[in-house]
Formats: sequence, C-alpha cells, structure tokens
Amino acid sequence: MSSINIKSQEVQIREVRLGSITGFEGTAGELVRCARAGKLQDSVRSFSQCMGCSSGNAFCQLSMIRDAAIINHAPVGCSGDFFGFNFVYRVGQMERNLPPATGRYFNSNIEEKDTIFGATAKLGETVRQVYERVKPKAIFITTSCASAIIGDDIEAVANQMTDELGIPVIGCYCEGFKSKIWTTGFDSAYHSIVRKLVKPPKKKTNNVNIINFWGSHIFDELLEPLGYKADYIVPFSTVADLEYISEAAATIQICPTLGTYLGAALEQLYGVPEIKAPPAYGIPGTDAWLRELGKVLKREKEIEEYIQKEHSRVLPILEEYRRKLQGKTAYITAGAAHGHALIALLRELGLKVQGAAIFHHDPVYDNADPASDALAHDVNTYGDVHNYNVCNKQAYELVNILNKVRPDIMIARHGGMTLWGAKLGVPTLLIGDEQFGFGYQGVLNYAERILETIDNREFVTNLAKHSTMPYTKWWLEQNPFSFLGGNIDVEVY
Ligand code: SF4
Repeated sequence: MSSINIKSQEVQIREVRLGSITGFEGTAGELVRCARAGKLQDSVRSFSQCMGCSSGNAFCQLSMIRDAAIINHAPVGCSGDFFGFNFVYRVGQMERNLPPATGRYFNSNIEEKDTIFGATAKLGETVRQVYERVKPKAIFITTSCASAIIGDDIEAVANQMTDELGIPVIGCYCEGFKSKIWTTGFDSAYHSIVRKLVKPPKKKTNNVNIINFWGSHIFDELLEPLGYKADYIVPFSTVADLEYISEAAATIQICPTLGTYLGAALEQLYGVPEIKAPPAYGIPGTDAWLRELGKVLKREKEIEEYIQKEHSRVLPILEEYRRKLQGKTAYITAGAAHGHALIALLRELGLKVQGAAIFHHDPVYDNADPASDALAHDVNTYGDVHNYNVCNKQAYELVNILNKVRPDIMIARHGGMTLWGAKLGVPTLLIGDEQFGFGYQGVLNYAERILETIDNREFVTNLAKHSTMPYTKWWLEQNPFSFLGGNIDVEVY
C-alpha cells in the first residue's frame, strides 16, 4: 500500500509509487499476470508523437472548485487549454442550475528573463492581483516544467501569501516533465487538497464522497433510499465542502485511475472507507460493487432487494440488445480504468472486443487491494482480450491498428482520438460522462448509443471518402508496434 504523506509537499509520481507503465503489447491476461507477479516492465518507444501533461490533469480537477482561483505558474503557452476547461465548467453549471460564472484561471507569464532571474516575485504579485480581482476562498498554484527547471520556491511564496491574505494559498506540484503518466496530475491536485484544505473530522456524516469528473448525478437515486447523501467531488464543490470530506461515511470511485490517491488518502488519514470493488460496469461487476457498497454502508438487505429488482427489470431488455448486437466488433481507446469499464460493458453486450489502446496501466492502486483490479475482473469474468496495447495516445499506432482490424465501432474516451476512426470510415462513439455507463441502466444506455452509432454510418463513410491521412501506405503496412520495446528495425522513407 502506498503510504500517504501529507507532510511532503509533493506526491510521488505513479511510475515510482505504483509501478505504472505506458508501453505494452500482448493480451490483457498477460498484463494482469505480469502485474500480479511483480514483473511488469515498461516497454519504451523509440518514437513518440505526443503526450498529455500532468499539469492539465491537475488543472481539470482544481479548475471547477467554484470559489477557488488557479494560477498556472508557467509560460503562457502552458495555459493554452484554459478555454476548454472553462467550456466544461460553463456547461456543467447549466446542467446543475448553478449561476453562470467564468472560470477564475490565471497565468503568471514566466518569460525568458524570469528563467534566469527567477519568477517568485512575479508569482507573489500575481497571487495578490488575483486575490484583489476575484476574492477567492482559496488559491491554487499549479507548477510547470519552466517553474520546476528554474527551481522557484513556490512553497515559500504560497506560505507567505497565505499569511498575508488570510486564505489558503496552495502549491500543486504537477510539472509535465516529471512523469510520463499524466494522471499523476490528478494525484498532485488531490494531494494539495488533502494537505492544505481537508480538516480532521469533527463528527461522522451520512455523506458519501463520489470522486468523479463532472458526470451526471446518478448516485442520488441509489443512496437516498439507503439514508445516505451523494457528495460529488471535486468539480463543482466549494472550498468549504472540501474541508469536511473527511467526515463522510464512504468514498466511491467512478474511476480508480482518477481517484486512487484521494480514496486511499481519505481512508488512511481519516478512516473514510473506500469502496474497493471495481466500479460497477457490466452486470456481474455491478452486482459485486453493490454488495461491497451494502457491506460498507451496512445496508446489505436493502442492496439485495435492489439487485433482485434491477435484474428483473434489466435482464430481459439486455437479452434483446444482445440479439441485435450479435456478431458486432469493437475497438476501444481510453484511459486505464475507464477503458477496463468499457471492455466490461462491450463484453456484457456480446460484442467482440478486437483490441484496446489504453493510455497507461497501474499494476496496483494506492489501496493495494487486488480486488480493485478492474482489468483482472474483466479477464476473469469475460475472458481474455487480445491485442491489448498500453499506448499513451500515440496516434500512429492507433491508426495502424484500426486500419487493420476495421471494427464495426470504435469507442473512445477522449475527443482527440475519435477523428482517427472517423477518417477511416469506422463509426466512432465518444461519451464524456463516465456515469452514463455505470450500473445496470448504464449497460442499456450504452447498448442504445452503440446501435444508433452503427446504424448512422453515412457521415463517417462520406468523411472517409473526402479526407486524407497523414500516415503513408508504407506505415500502415508495418507492424504497429515497430517502435515499441526497442524493435526499431524498420526502414523509413
Ligand atoms: S507544464 Fe511542461 S509539459 Fe505541461 S504544458 Fe507546460 S511545458 Fe508542456
């Protein structure tokens, strides 16, 4: 189990803390076996096209705390994605009937001369100006490659400004170059929240923390009849809400890739039990997850009744969808745990999963409980998945594979990946809301959307006719893993 140390200003990166990797090709079963045996090795790529950045992932959680402000201590280019976060924030406000507000996002504008003389004075002045302009309840400072390379003492600035302004000013150490696994940025954001905002509990409440992105509020309906209240964190929380997440009765993870660190931190530091079963995707997965929830919340009888009721409602409809989807094939590209969830959903619906390009792999989560392993659950429940590729969004690998397997549908989790399927004329489905596929109803939701997508292929067929690929015929004929694991024995034209 990784030991949570809130005395340290930084969280260890996932490569070191969990042994996570970004390069693998084989079967899902092989990956699970290697991870269990402690023999998981990262297969290095000799060519890499692009990658995500931890700073962006930290920002995605912190930027939607409703009364906080975020300063990205960085050259202004690192903040080029602010508009995207603001868009998601504004859409989420409308969905929740919250008053419209623009994200309070700022950049300290590190310039060339600052990289020589240091940028801490500039950062301090930025914090002051941000406080004057928007009067936030807390200010987070996210770091960047530039601020880390020049060695700015951000903690000293944050502490000084906390004293000066009387609000928490918190360093979040998430510079992009530190880790190849950009989900380390989630851990950095949560570490900064647990380290500086969350207070020890004064009492226990009937709140249940739901660590999620900005998905629909499906847990209200489940938890309220059990006498519990869903508390969706971190996006759309307030600073005051976050101070007492330590008082909750339990923590639910919508996706352990997202919340592994926060779930473990709340359990280790404040005794808030984490639901450790893999998230509820697919029927057997939902059964197991609900039973674990019932055990933790001491509502086993009510949960058994719920399972029986939902089985009688959902299973006959599911059979009908299975019949319609029989013989269909799918390819998945997504982040780790959500990718595993999608595999369960597709296998439950009877689709043949031809392969998956999953952005990284955590051989273990921070709770160190093997029962949390969603990929092992997939393999044990539905059988192995061939062509399982751990691939940190290398489009050249994905396009090569898609061109060869030509599935009936590609399911993607990130917007930037969907166009590759569409350009090849493969119907592609992207669903941003993880909660959409959660639980019994989630299986039916996905089935309906898959059928719609497969039935409406005219758009992608036309798009493929009129689009060009940046990849040559030569590359599309190569082994997709030519640059993975040191196999660089290819001629480049
Ligand atoms: S922090 Fe580093 S990796 Fe991230 S956007 Fe800035 S320069 Fe790029």
